Amino acid sequence: MYKAIVINKDEAGYRAELKDQNDEDLPEGDVTVKVAFSTLNYKDGLAITGKGPVVRRFPMVPGVDLAGSVMASSHGDFKVGDAVVLNGWGVGEVHPGGLAQKARLKGDWLVPLPAAFSPAQAMAIGTAGYTAMLCVMALERHGVTPDKGEILVTGAAGGVGSVAVAILAKLGYTVVASTGRPAEGEYLKTLGAAEIVDRAMFTEPGRPLGKERWAGAVDTVGSHTLANVCATTKYRGVVTCCGLAQGMDFPSSVAPFILRGVTLAGIDSVMAPKAERIEAWNRLATDLDVSKLALITREIALSDAIDAAGELMAGTIRGRVVVDVN
Ligand code: NDP
Repeated sequence: MYKAIVINKDEAGYRAELKDQNDEDLPEGDVTVKVAFSTLNYKDGLAITGKGPVVRRFPMVPGVDLAGSVMASSHGDFKVGDAVVLNGWGVGEVHPGGLAQKARLKGDWLVPLPAAFSPAQAMAIGTAGYTAMLCVMALERHGVTPDKGEILVTGAAGGVGSVAVAILAKLGYTVVASTGRPAEGEYLKTLGAAEIVDRAMFTEPGRPLGKERWAGAVDTVGSHTLANVCATTKYRGVVTCCGLAQGMDFPSSVAPFILRGVTLAGIDSVMAPKAERIEAWNRLATDLDVSKLALITREIALSDAIDAAGELMAGTIRGRVVVDVN
């Protein structure tokens, strides 16, 4: 028997519950993992509360992330006892996920846990932090170096935003953090933000082009925010787009792209190739100050995950939530 959060949708409605499961409830897969820690990402919040159509098979164990140790394996790359981490690949959406004490997965989805991190630290980073690293790698790939100017991070007090601020600051960038929570200003400065701006300057419909300010941006918010960020990005600047906390729409014009040569770089963590994942985790081991993780993270029990998902959707959680599943 093992415990898991289980989501069902039937005549009784959409609901998430903490349940006892049997090994027969595990799906197909060539590696069985004893989960040590999982986490709550925005997507897990949508899945648990039913606020977004994330879960596509029922019953489903949510949790797009997990860290733990291999209990059984018929995959050539993994043996019993190996420490592993998993992010995405549809886990927690179409394949039972990490908010459980046990998971069975495809070995091809697993990444060896970098020696720099404990399982709890890997989940403090989680998909949110790994996505933040993918955004920073995209800025670099497009030539945005610290000397080019300010980097804007939107949704800065959230999970992706917090980790992005910490990584960019450690790499020497001048980070401007946009938040709707002025009370988190000190927190964001401790993570390395040079300046805090009110997110209200981006959330309303704006002009096709504004005063040029950002050399680059990490946008976790989408909608008018993303449009206004593009409109105020400097000539040849780069905006990485990874989130939709304000909305999935993109009410922009082509002006920033054809008049200022702005690049909009899309970031997807879910199906990112394995080599890029390994690179991102290796970069996190060197470019994220691990001591900042304690500040970013709150730890909860599996039995608290359903309530915490509601808080995440209400936008009241700062940084990251790690779930101790045992
Ligand atoms: P969080 O909920 O932790 O953070 C989102 C932040 O966005 C909030 O903390 C808040 O920041 C801001 N925000 C929330 N609502 C609004 C709004 N209505 N208008 C403007 N800003 C708002 O989520 P995560 O950091 O885990 O994820 C952020 C986004 O990135 C999500 O949309 C998620 O789906 C997406 N994502 C995408 C991935 C990918 O592969 N592309 C992977 C991981 C996440 P503040 O209070 O500071 O203003």
